[in-house]
Amino acid sequence: FFEKRKDERKMNIIMLGAQGTGKGTVAGLISENTGWPQISTGDIFRKNISEKTELGVEAEKYISKGNLVPDEITVPMVEDAKNGVILDGFPRTIEQAEKLDKILEKKGEKIDLVINLVTPKEEIIDRMLTRRVCTNPECKATYNIKLHPPVKEGICDKCGAPLKQRDDDSDPEAIKRRLEIYEEKTSPLVEYYKNKGVLRTETVSISINHMGKDVAEEVVRDIKK
Ligand code: ADP
Ligand code: ZN
Repeated sequence: FFEKRKDERKMNIIMLGAQGTGKGTVAGLISENTGWPQISTGDIFRKNISEKTELGVEAEKYISKGNLVPDEITVPMVEDAKNGVILDGFPRTIEQAEKLDKILEKKGEKIDLVINLVTPKEEIIDRMLTRRVCTNPECKATYNIKLHPPVKEGICDKCGAPLKQRDDDSDPEAIKRRLEIYEEKTSPLVEYYKNKGVLRTETVSISINHMGKDVAEEVVRDIKK
């Protein structure tokens, strides 16, 4: 009975927000505090690309141009998610959201909370350019050389591997394309989840001194209430 109670408290959370708003950072912190796993479709793709798996080779064709990877490849990646999960980077279209609802419905589950991160556009582009990721595919830590630099320049605090800029972050065309796709395909999800009554919008900006770690703290506090 107690196990069941504990399980019932688990929430399915979606991180929403444009590139560079800090979805991964917030998801990682909530995950550390709740023990609920973070599933980042972007991280899974990058790991597969660096390991040159079949999925990676296929996905890279789209990712390098800043385009979305087709649903036939992406949707199965979240199909086996257990109750109590933090989805980061999925869903990204209304179609994906509807598919996710069906997947959850079959298991008698639902989305409990959608955290929508909003950051001013100038800040977003700056953050994408100053973002660095760990080259160790098992680690996937991310840094920002302005906002949260590693202790030792160019080296991951967590595992000691070198850091690099993501390929899609160093190509201005890919950045532009990703932001366009966000506006066109992903931003309608705000309304979609608002209508379901699960949307929580948070502004993340240095101008109001409210950053990803603050959002994570507030959300974790509310979850544990
Ligand atoms: P960002 O949010 O900065 O674009 P992500 O790490 O979330 O970075 O994703 C990197 C890339 O992986 C995306 O630009 C897209 O090509 C692909 N991708 C990630 N998640 C999805 C998804 N749910 N559907 C389609 N493509 C995806
Ligand atoms: Zn690392």
